Amino acid sequence: MKYDVVVVGAGPAGAIAARCSAKHDANTLIIEEHPYIGSPVQCTGIISIKALDECDLKPESSFVYRNIRGANIYSPGNHCIKIDGGKTKAHVIDRKIFDRILVAKALDEGADLILRTKATALKNNKNGAVLTVRQNGTLQEIQTKVVIGADGIQSSVARMSGLGRVGKILSCIQVEGQYEMADADFVEIFLGNNVAPGFFAWVVPAADSIARIGLCVNSSNSANRSAHQYLKKLLKEHSIVSTRYHGSSTSMVVGGMPVGALKHTCTDAVIIVGDAAGQIKPTSGGGIYTCAVCAKIAGGVASIGDASKKGLELYDTMWRKCIGKELTIGMHIHNTIGNFSDQRLDEFINIFDDQNIMDAVRQYGDMDQPSVLLGKIAPYLNKKQLFTFAGSIIKDFINSK
Ligand SMILES: Cc1cc2nc3c(=O)[nH]c(=O)nc-3n(C[C@H](O)[C@H](O)[C@H](O)COP(=O)(O)OP(=O)(O)OC[C@H]3O[C@@H](n4cnc5c(N)ncnc54)[C@H](O)[C@@H]3O)c2cc1C
Repeated sequence: MKYDVVVVGAGPAGAIAARCSAKHDANTLIIEEHPYIGSPVQCTGIISIKALDECDLKPESSFVYRNIRGANIYSPGNHCIKIDGGKTKAHVIDRKIFDRILVAKALDEGADLILRTKATALKNNKNGAVLTVRQNGTLQEIQTKVVIGADGIQSSVARMSGLGRVGKILSCIQVEGQYEMADADFVEIFLGNNVAPGFFAWVVPAADSIARIGLCVNSSNSANRSAHQYLKKLLKEHSIVSTRYHGSSTSMVVGGMPVGALKHTCTDAVIIVGDAAGQIKPTSGGGIYTCAVCAKIAGGVASIGDASKKGLELYDTMWRKCIGKELTIGMHIHNTIGNFSDQRLDEFINIFDDQNIMDAVRQYGDMDQPSVLLGKIAPYLNKKQLFTFAGSIIKDFINSK
């Protein structure tokens, strides 16, 4: 088999990259190790309006469960701040259908798809690559100019091409079950070192009376307890969640969130994109917006046909120009807030009990670009708050150098 571009992985990053490469007349193949697209699902399915736009999709009822206006954020001491966007800011989607629509769009542009086919070996040089795949127990070789590794958190393409692995992986778990939302247009976020050390827990309304309840933990902050143990505790003991959760879950998702992008995302004949490259927002764990931005660039650059590392570096340069700063600042915010004590987290949430700050949040809050908000609220912080919060972020920045 011979193709101009072979995309490994039919998740959102792979589907969007393949769509763009095929659109630019490159003969494109997607391979997916599973027999189905979009399954198993490892996602809460929150997608901003901007992200949906970036995927070139409209919010259709075939995959949108409901609209979300904002968030109720609970501090460790259960002080709640309501962030109300005033209108729909995001959607809760069915990821399985969403992924299938994205792949169908790539096929409409002329890409080919082979399911139950796993990339197992790779030989690459500046003129192209030979990818070995296993299909129904048989190995075969595919010749191509460029391989796009969109193969998620365990990326074998990144490993086989020497680009390595994302350094920090958060452990995540989520169940879907009966839950009485206080307000079905809002998601609930819970902070605290006893709730989800290093990150946060969430409750996201899905279908009627059903919510997705989950959390991520940073294993270096988690006192030897697993994400599963924290979730059990949240559902059974948390003073708010345990009273709203009705004790029966219909599905469970266990996964990882790779935060902190790879140092290099391309080499001779190889581009890495999406979770495989760590292109996920470290503040929220959202990866669909960022992977859509990067996958479009990946598909476009791969279709040019210059397989040399020098040629493909255009991809690395362009995606970092679009979202690199946001991911870097997001990582400093993630490191800083992730290491706060419960007392600091309470103080942090109290900052938002201020009309000027809430106005700024309403006007400039953007779940895909939280750094913009940082600059807008800074003028309203008093000296102590500036020293504590902005100072900690700057300290993390200096320590990372
Ligand atoms: C618990 C949880 C909740 C989340 N919630 C949200 C959310 O609400 N909103 C949001 O924006 N993001 C969310 N994310 C992140 C989001 O799910 C990912 O960022 C997104 O799926 C990344 O897409 P991707 O295409 O890079 O990788 P994936 O979706 O992981 O797709 C990779 C594909 O590659 C295939 N593959 C892997 N290896 C091979 C191989 N060797 N050969 C062939 N195929 C292979 C896999 O089967 C898979 O289909 C969440 C993540 C987790 C863990």
